[in-house]
Amino acid sequence: MVFRDGLPTKYLWDRFEHCAAPGPPARSRGRAQRLLRSSPFPALTMTQSDCLFCKLVAGDIPADVVFRSDRVLAFRDISPQAPVHILVIPSEHIGSLDQAGDTHATVLGEVLLTARDLARSEGLAEGGYRTVINTGDDGGQTVHHLHLHLLGGRSMTWPPG
Ligand code: 5GP
Ligand code: ZN
Repeated sequence: MVFRDGLPTKYLWDRFEHCAAPGPPARSRGRAQRLLRSSPFPALTMTQSDCLFCKLVAGDIPADVVFRSDRVLAFRDISPQAPVHILVIPSEHIGSLDQAGDTHATVLGEVLLTARDLARSEGLAEGGYRTVINTGDDGGQTVHHLHLHLLGGRSMTWPPG
């Protein structure tokens, strides 16, 4: 398969976690990544190699996974802020809620419903719980792969800091 400008798609694959190919020279790689950003093929933009949570999805970094589907991964936060603190993320790389598009409606719905189900299975539903999506610098987002915090097991205060 040949991509735009006749650039073979194998030059684009070094964005993927499990690419076994040696990869193109640095100049070609930069060009490939510029082309990839404007790719008309969504499947080619689903993973970002320098993203911590993409590495978690790929299994390259261990996580205490509590739920996995085709579209969603949920795992316990490494630094829990409540007795239950789970992160629910789309498997596909979406940098933040602000970077989500209308085509992400299904996966965003699945993220929310996964949080609902986990809140029930973790025994939080009756007492209540909090869901949080930090977005951007002012929102306090530190990992730039969209994630929903599910927090519970204690009383929450309001407003948040
Ligand atoms: P944010 O501040 O972006 O809303 O939330 C990022 C969350 O990711 C933080 O609560 C942080 O503790 C968690 N986190 C950061 N690195 C890791 C990691 O390697 N593994 C897990 N399980 N959680 C992480
Ligand atoms: Zn990512």
